[in-house]
Amino acid sequence: MPQVRLYNTMSQSVEPFSPADGKVVRMYTCGPTVYNPAHVGNFRTFLFEDLMRRVLKLAGWRVEQVMNLTDVDDKIIRRASEAGVSISDITVPVTERFHSDRRYLRIEDAERYPRATESIPEMIELVSTLVARGVAYQADDGSVYFAIDKFPAYGKLSRLDKREIQTGARVAQDDYAKENAQDFALWKAAKPEDEASGAAWDSPWGRGRPGWHLECSAMAMRFLGETLDVHCGGIDLVFPHHEDEIAQSEAATGREFSRFWCHGQFLLTDGAKMAKRVGNVATVADMREQGVSGAAFRHFAFSTHYRKQLNLSPDALEASLEGVRRVGDFAERLAAATGGTPGLAAAAEDLVADASAAFFDDLNAPEAMAALFSFIRRANAELDAGGRDEAALARAREAFALVNGVLDIVPEPAAEDEELSVYVEGRLAARRAARTRRDFAAADAIRDELTSRGIAIEDGPQGTRWKKLY
Ligand code: AMP
Ligand code: ZN
Repeated sequence: MPQVRLYNTMSQSVEPFSPADGKVVRMYTCGPTVYNPAHVGNFRTFLFEDLMRRVLKLAGWRVEQVMNLTDVDDKIIRRASEAGVSISDITVPVTERFHSDRRYLRIEDAERYPRATESIPEMIELVSTLVARGVAYQADDGSVYFAIDKFPAYGKLSRLDKREIQTGARVAQDDYAKENAQDFALWKAAKPEDEASGAAWDSPWGRGRPGWHLECSAMAMRFLGETLDVHCGGIDLVFPHHEDEIAQSEAATGREFSRFWCHGQFLLTDGAKMAKRVGNVATVADMREQGVSGAAFRHFAFSTHYRKQLNLSPDALEASLEGVRRVGDFAERLAAATGGTPGLAAAAEDLVADASAAFFDDLNAPEAMAALFSFIRRANAELDAGGRDEAALARAREAFALVNGVLDIVPEPAAEDEELSVYVEGRLAARRAARTRRDFAAADAIRDELTSRGIAIEDGPQGTRWKKLY
């Protein structure tokens, strides 16, 4: 097995990766803020994380992935107060939608999806530790802030120029710009809208609620321990979110918070970052309406390396639809084949070697996909030769399953095909029943009926296979 290597934002270089205990990868992935359905830009990041977990499993490790759901933050509270409802009225349906969109894109289940509001005691505990250690203080506004000048390593992830840090200046918003590297809120004193929307809890500093950065530190350490193997998110989370997570966690434990920091680049539309604020978002529902399958969207997302920007365009989606059509046709052909050639086995060996080397080299999905398409071309030529080597065929099926097990780009059969398959399978069952009772006339009549509808059938050792001829 080649060595897995990942780009670590902390060292700004590609480094050999393995989990600290040699067995289980403790992986924390910042999840969606559930106030609005996630857009496909967000899903590009979640797909990069899906790619990572599948590749790490391919390397032979177990993965313990936690993806939090941010169900209390500035944006959610604003939305709830505008509508005069509680935060959970907003977050519960959006969370359901997130999971159904995620499944459409075949993003594997993480081991846990903790909600921020279910870890409030752990968050309060973390703030208490920071206050006790003298790195956090309660200000006149009642909120508790992290004192960045008490944590000398502040800025190490984003390589923030220390001169930009404004000692003593404070920021209460969850999201803020680089120019204001200031003390940030860990615990925010409750405002009337927080109370009205059910976003306020008792604490040693009075009624209040957690800041966004605090949520992730508390949940990551609660479920994965003080040192993670890898922490992921979109590139925009490097500062302030991940910088602040490091400050809070390391100041509290005195240990390294995460061994690797990995960030995915943006999805763009017409050259601009896809973002709600810009108004250029597309959702998974839009993809579905445009006939873009989960498989096709994955193909599109994996056509570019995760550390490069990717532009969403109708042409690119069209190319991906065509790409997965080829993969689907090949998958069918491979399933129906009855034998292969030595050349097919050789092509399979090359596929496994080339695709795993690409996956393990900082998750190079585009290169792995290129290896898959070159295998498909070679394998089609070998299958045309009509060999009888069953071991070669088995090797080809295994190799294809291994690579597709990461990419997952075989399209679902179209709905029309599904109806057809229900009909054909039904008729084949009737034919089997007729043959069992030795009523061969009835069995032949069913075969003729299928032939007249353009369905060819072929009896083999593993049962009857069928194929649509026109
Ligand atoms: P949010 O729900 O805003 O916290 O974002 C969820 C995830 O999506 C974060 O990891 C963001 O970094 C990521 N993200 C936001 N916009 C984009 C984009 N246009 N392309 C890729 N990832 C994004
Ligand atoms: Zn986070």
